[in-house]
Amino acid sequence: MDCLFCKIIQGDIPSKKVFENERVLAFHDIQPAAPVHILIIPKKHIPTMNEVTDEDDALMVELFATARQLAKELNIDESGYRLVNNCNREGGQVVYHLHLHLLGGHQMKSLAG
Ligand code: IMP
Repeated sequence: MDCLFCKIIQGDIPSKKVFENERVLAFHDIQPAAPVHILIIPKKHIPTMNEVTDEDDALMVELFATARQLAKELNIDESGYRLVNNCNREGGQVVYHLHLHLLGGHQMKSLAG
């Protein structure tokens, strides 16, 4: 399958892993947009948020639990962080394998402007 993140999961492309189990992988973003920028992905290939089904409920909970745990380990839980999913073209999605961006380590602007 021609998917960058599937290749990272398979180990064909190297990554700086921070967490891995049978279902979830987390690694440093190659072009960090914040002092802390981790990508949290399911090992199951799901292209976008639109393809998530009820069968993935437990997996979605696990992605968020991983984000919560990593925020704690990376010491940004108290100061704060942002969790982002970009969906499709206008959402700014570039890699079509579902992922959460965990961003933190500096002050972010409110989306309310
Ligand atoms: P998207 O715009 O939400 O799809 O985010 C894709 C993210 O993947 C971007 O923040 C990229 O910097 C990141 N990225 C692309 N290639 C790699 C890689 O090989 N390793 C780690 N992160 C990557």
